[in-house]
Amino acid sequence: MQLTAAETRKIIRIADLILASKDLVVFTGAGISTESGIPDFRSPGGIWTRFDPDDFTIQKYVSDPESQRKQWSLLEEGSLINAQPNRAHYAVAELERMGKLTCVITQNIDNLHQKAGNSPEKVLELHGTFGWTRCMSCGSRYTSELMLGRFRGNREIPHCDHCSGLIKPDVVFFGESLPSGTLEQASHCSQACDLFIVIGSSLVVYPAAFMPAYAKQSGADLVIINNSQTDMDSQADVVVQGSAGETMENILSRVRAGLCV
Ligand code: NAD
Ligand code: ZN
Repeated sequence: MQLTAAETRKIIRIADLILASKDLVVFTGAGISTESGIPDFRSPGGIWTRFDPDDFTIQKYVSDPESQRKQWSLLEEGSLINAQPNRAHYAVAELERMGKLTCVITQNIDNLHQKAGNSPEKVLELHGTFGWTRCMSCGSRYTSELMLGRFRGNREIPHCDHCSGLIKPDVVFFGESLPSGTLEQASHCSQACDLFIVIGSSLVVYPAAFMPAYAKQSGADLVIINNSQTDMDSQADVVVQGSAGETMENILSRVRAGLCV
């Protein structure tokens, strides 16, 4: 799509910020993955129009077999596990290859940053991942593929091989705390960076949404790329209201050109 002069100026400004940055953090939400066919939560057609958020509380999961079955059916549906990265994920992976990326802090559970080529140790998953499952008693981890195979076989919720504890997808349910080490690392990176780029997040889910505020308060430049307004737009240095994929592709071609001069 043809960019207006004002949009082009914003793309150039963001590319210049990236080229000048010594410590870049990218922060992503469900909006970076909608172009991969995974609906976000809050837009029309989003996950909450098909599933009841009450079924995703940890209290319900441990006590209600029906809620357990709904979780495993969502996992089985495969829309998250089988999704493929899009232009925006590949752009973030390219930033790492250029040596420009300190880390990606993501609220997503879809593993698409790693599939696009980001190193696992650079991806801080604040809300866990659908690619893995965990025993609620002893903490043993199993791939979702393994446990899904068992669920498909007998339609029973899988239990742990070591202690027979209940297995749950390794994602943070409502009512559960975020993984403390990851949250600490993400907070530290947000406070230490000089450039913080939000891609595809409504910035309403806390504590994840504290991260851009930490970055801004610590003196970093803040860029927000989202196709609708966010509560932090007024604090951002550059706001692009548009598609994550197209915007990141445009930014990356400018960054590549800048690295060649
Ligand atoms: P959100 O649904 O609250 O917000 C997503 C934002 O992205 C919205 O403001 C929307 O306007 C914008 N958006 C949608 N498509 C876009 C596109 N193509 N380009 C640019 N912007 C686009 O999501 P959130 O802020 O991540 O918070 C909600 C919670 O949803 C998180 O906790 C996350 O764990 C979970 N979630 C994750 C996935 C996933 O893993 N892909 C999917 C759904 C929900
Ligand atoms: Zn166990």
